[in-house]
Amino acid sequence: MAERYCVDCREFPSENSCDVIMCASEEHLIDAAVIHATTAHGEKDTPELREATRKAMKRESVARAA
Ligand SMILES: [Zn+2]
Repeated sequence: MAERYCVDCREFPSENSCDVIMCASEEHLIDAAVIHATTAHGEKDTPELREATRKAMKRESVARAA
């Protein structure tokens, strides 16, 4: 089974100190994270947002150890 990746919303600047963390396989995580950013933070679904999200992804074993 492929290792999951996590995105921690604390690593993005937000007006409400959002601390959501999401973990999923890479292909599902990018969509879940973009939906969260657009619905919860009013971001636009752009290639730049997806790129920033991908860069913020960490392997689950690394994210959980932190
Ligand atoms: Zn958030």
